[in-house]
Amino acid sequence: MRIDIISAVPDLLQSPFAHSIMQRAQQKGLLEVKVHNLRAYGLGKHNKIDDYQFGGGAGMVMMIEPIATLIEKLQSERKYDDIIYMTPDGKRLEQGDCNQLSLKKNLILLCGHYKGIDERIRDIYITKEISIGDYVLSGGELPAAVLVDSIGRLLPGVLNDESSALFDSFQDNLLAPPVYTRPADYKGHKIPEILLSGHKKKIEEWRDEQSYLRTAERRPDLLEEN
Ligand code: SAH
Repeated sequence: MRIDIISAVPDLLQSPFAHSIMQRAQQKGLLEVKVHNLRAYGLGKHNKIDDYQFGGGAGMVMMIEPIATLIEKLQSERKYDDIIYMTPDGKRLEQGDCNQLSLKKNLILLCGHYKGIDERIRDIYITKEISIGDYVLSGGELPAAVLVDSIGRLLPGVLNDESSALFDSFQDNLLAPPVYTRPADYKGHKIPEILLSGHKKKIEEWRDEQSYLRTAERRPDLLEEN
């Protein structure tokens, strides 16, 4: 899968993909992330990418031309399944969206800044709008990193244990059960006995039950969706 990210602050996107699981996904050739510096497509000798908003009011708006030029350049090189704008007024990201997006081949993610982008970009080019939650960040880079990570870890072969992602929270509308590692007894805080039993089926049942109890306690709204 290939993901092209359009950003006015590409440095913000260096570290999130340079370590751990995202780094491994790229090294294995399963994920390709390309970050494009929007300023390189800016107008005039100052590479202008934003301007005052029509009608007045505080905050700059990202201009159409630099974004349009870059999107069209990318589109001339390959076909994109979706061109996604990260925005607080978009569809709130959920695991189901990540699952679906992980099946795509080529995606463009557009990161806004300042007041946002000229609405006509959204009308002309954007096929999906995604929010990572009901709060406002200063730019779309962190949301884009969240989206890439949530999709990238689902790609077959990225996680060492293929089935691992299936047992994470929100798959099947359930939260994940608690997990423990050594030592089995930490200053009198013992792990649940069952996990030492070696009885695979009973452990599985215990995990299912814990999953359910935890969801009922913390996120009863998820159970209603089942
Ligand atoms: N004026 C806009 C907010 C702009 S914030 C409004 O009130 O809706 C600047 C940029 O940060 C946005 O263009 C978007 O790309 C990004 N951003 C901020 N919060 C976000 C969120 N919750 N989810 C996704 N992107 C977000």
